[in-house]
Amino acid sequence: MTPTTFSVRTLGCQMNVHDSERMAGLLIDAGYTPVDLVPDAAARATDAGDGGADIVVVNTCSVRENAATRLFGNLGQLAAVKRERPGMQIAVGGCLAQQMREEIVHRAPWVDVVFGTHNIDVLPVLLERARHNNEAAVEIEESLKVFPSTLPTKRENPYAAWVSISVGCNNTCTFCIVPSLRGKERDRRPGDILAEIQAVVDAGAIEVTLLGQNVNSYGVGFGDRGAFAKLLRACGQIEGLKRVRFTSPHPAAFSDDVIDAMAETPNVMPSLHMPLQSGSDAVLRQMRRSYRSKKFLGILERVRDKMPDAAITTDIIVGFPGETEEDFAQTLAVVEASRFASAYTFQYSPRPGTPAADRTDQVPADVVTERYQRLIALQDRISTEENEALQGSVVEVLVADGSGRKDEASERISGRARDNRLVHVALPPEQAGPAPRPGDIVRARVTHGAPHYLVADSALAGGLFEIERTRAGDTWQAAQAAAREAREASEHPTTAVGLGMPSLRRP
Ligand code: SF4
Repeated sequence: MTPTTFSVRTLGCQMNVHDSERMAGLLIDAGYTPVDLVPDAAARATDAGDGGADIVVVNTCSVRENAATRLFGNLGQLAAVKRERPGMQIAVGGCLAQQMREEIVHRAPWVDVVFGTHNIDVLPVLLERARHNNEAAVEIEESLKVFPSTLPTKRENPYAAWVSISVGCNNTCTFCIVPSLRGKERDRRPGDILAEIQAVVDAGAIEVTLLGQNVNSYGVGFGDRGAFAKLLRACGQIEGLKRVRFTSPHPAAFSDDVIDAMAETPNVMPSLHMPLQSGSDAVLRQMRRSYRSKKFLGILERVRDKMPDAAITTDIIVGFPGETEEDFAQTLAVVEASRFASAYTFQYSPRPGTPAADRTDQVPADVVTERYQRLIALQDRISTEENEALQGSVVEVLVADGSGRKDEASERISGRARDNRLVHVALPPEQAGPAPRPGDIVRARVTHGAPHYLVADSALAGGLFEIERTRAGDTWQAAQAAAREAREASEHPTTAVGLGMPSLRRP
C-alpha cells in the first residue's frame, strides 16, 4: 500500500519549530509517513512548499510582517498543487490560525483544516473529519487543554532537543501579539520537565534547550520564584547531558540566582540571549517593558563577572512608534556598551491587534530603514571585533546536521561552540579514522573571526583537531540507517515492514 505522506512547513520562531515537531510526531503516530522517507512523493515537490506530500501542514506565525498576505499567497500556490493532486489535504495551524480562525477557510476554501495554538493534539482527528465529511474542519481552543510537551514529538535532530518549560506570557509588551494568541503563562511541573529531559538524553540527545516565551519567570504559576535557577541546577545532575541552553529570558525577571546557577552548573553553556528591544528608557516604558537600560547593563556586567567567556546576544526593535533620534542614539549607546556577540534586529512594523499598531506617531519607513542600517553597521563592527578577539582560542564544536554548500566546497563541518557561536571547522587534509558525525564534538583552534561566524582551520596546518565521538553521533548514525531502510522499503512496497509505524520515529 502506498503510504500517505505529510510535510510540515514552519514559519516563525523556535516555539513554532518545536510545535511543528509535535505535529510531525502526532501524524506519525496516526500512521502517516514523513514525505522525505518516500522519494517518489518527495520528487513531485513544487515551489509552493508542499514537499510533494499528500498532507501539507502550514504552521503559521503572526509576528512576521505581512504574515496574512504571505500566507494567502502561499495558500494560492498550494491550491494549484491540490488541483493536480487529488486527495491532497492542506492544514493551517499556528498563531495566525489562532487569530484568523474561520476567516482562513472563507478566503481560501480549499483549506481542509484550521487548528490553533492550544489544540495541536486534534490535528489528526481534524484531517480525518475533513476527509470523511468532505468539508473544512475548523477548531480553535481559547486555552490550553493538553500541555503540548505531553504530545508525541518527531524531533528535528537526535542530538539536540527543545524542551518546553512553559507556554504563554503574562507580560503585555505593546508590540507583541503573543499574549493574546498564546494566552497566560502556564508552567509545567519540574518533575515532568526533568522526566522529558531524561527521556531525550536516554534517546541520544546531548544538548537541550529549555523553551518558554519568558523562561525566567518560570515558577510563577506554582509560587516558586526560584524555580528556574533550581531547574538549571537540576539539569546539571543529568548524566550524559553535555549542553543546556535556554531561550528567552526577560530582563525584568532576571535574578542573580539564575546567574549563579548558570555559572555553577558546568553543563549550562556560557551563552545568554536576552532581548533588549530598545536602549531608550522612554521607549521601553512605551513598550511596557518594565526594566530600564541601567538594569539591563547591570545584568550583563554580573553575567560577565561570573562567566567571563559568556557570549551575549539580543533582539532589538528599531523605529517603535514615537522613537526619536535621541531615543535611537540611546539604543546605539547601550549596544556599544553591551558588546553583544550578535543581535537580531527588526524594523518595527505594526502588528494588527497590538496596542502599538494603533498609535498615530508611527516613524516614517525611510527613517526606520536609515536607523536600522546604522544599527546593523555598529553591531557588525562589534561582532567582528568580538570574533577576531577569539582568534587563537580553542573551540569545542557540536557538529550540526546538513553542511551548507560552502562547507561542501571547502570541506568544512559546521556547528555551534559552547557559547553558541557558529563555527566552520576544516577537516585535516588526511584524516585518520572516521569523520566526525552530526552530534559528535570536535575541538579546533580559531583561525579567523568573521562578523557572523568563526573559522577554525587549525587542522589544515597540522594543528589542533580532536574528535569526541558521542552517543549523539551514534544515534544520528542509527537514525540515518533507519531512514535509509524506510526509503528502500517504500521503494519496494512488497518487502515493506511497518511503514509509517511509530517504530520509524527517531526520538
Ligand atoms: S515578554 Fe513581551 S515580547 Fe515577550 S512574549 Fe511576552 S509580551 Fe511578547
